[in-house]
Amino acid sequence: MTILLATRNAGKLVEFRRLLTGLEVVGLADVPEFPEAPETGATFAENALAKARDAAAATGLPSVADDSGLAVDALNGMPGVLSARWSGKHGDDLANLNLLLGQLGDVPDERRGGAFICAAALVMPGGRETVVHGEWRGRIIREPRGTNGFGYDPIFVPDGETRTSAELSPAEKDAASHRGLAFRALLPYL
Ligand code: IMP
Repeated sequence: MTILLATRNAGKLVEFRRLLTGLEVVGLADVPEFPEAPETGATFAENALAKARDAAAATGLPSVADDSGLAVDALNGMPGVLSARWSGKHGDDLANLNLLLGQLGDVPDERRGGAFICAAALVMPGGRETVVHGEWRGRIIREPRGTNGFGYDPIFVPDGETRTSAELSPAEKDAASHRGLAFRALLPYL
């Protein structure tokens, strides 16, 4: 069986392929192009489901899509679904991280909790739909550390860790992360 992971992110494809040994996983770069709707949902689940539905309708393949972000307690769950464009420019990881650090400047250490959240959606060609979530709790530190990962990884220290998620190896991150949890929760439905 071939499964489409509706992403152009090579890292997500590698991670998903590691979980799905025995199945062929292709990405958006491997299928004919189709219009990709902008991510305008109010929740991670809405965005993930919309992407997986579009992919399944366009290709006829069982399709998985994910949407993720950082939910900071002191910001009532923001940046949330706006994580990728928090500074106003989509995908500007450094500007997003610096804006968040500035916003949290006066927030004391004991109130700097937050979580990475990932929703993963599976849409089967017959129409069956499944959405699962993964959550990775931690806290936001004051100075970036580490060069692995992307996005807010350099300022996120997972619970039980002293290192930031940008200081974890890719395998350590996959084993604990919101995306790893969500992808693994989908496996029984495939
Ligand atoms: P997307 O789900 O790939 O669209 O990611 C949304 C945004 O959330 C990214 O641009 C990052 O800013 C943030 N994000 C999601 N997952 C992670 C992660 O594992 N580490 C750091 N930032 C993340």
